[in-house]
Amino acid sequence: METLFEKAFVKALRKHSGIKNQVENKVRMIMEHPLAMGEPLKGNFRGFYSCPVKKSFIIIYLYCRACRTKGDHEIVACSDCSEHENETLKFVLLGPHDEAYGI
Ligand SMILES: [Zn+2]
Repeated sequence: METLFEKAFVKALRKHSGIKNQVENKVRMIMEHPLAMGEPLKGNFRGFYSCPVKKSFIIIYLYCRACRTKGDHEIVACSDCSEHENETLKFVLLGPHDEAYGI
């Protein structure tokens, strides 16, 4: 499993350092069960998954195997998807529910 952390995610983790441990636990669980842990998003966020860390606070990530099996990787906003293996996780963003959807 290749794991990538995007800048926005790292920045948000710094901002919410109070729950760093909880986030790290969730990240580990997502790495073990990428599909079971996440809920697929729709619309503009098609292809992305969200996983709650605590109430109204979510992690948004991409799983490249899912980008492809959906057959709609063309419109999944997974940059440089084709340069990565199927088993790639990209942690995109982290934050309170409302904030995270304002990407
Ligand atoms: Zn992808």
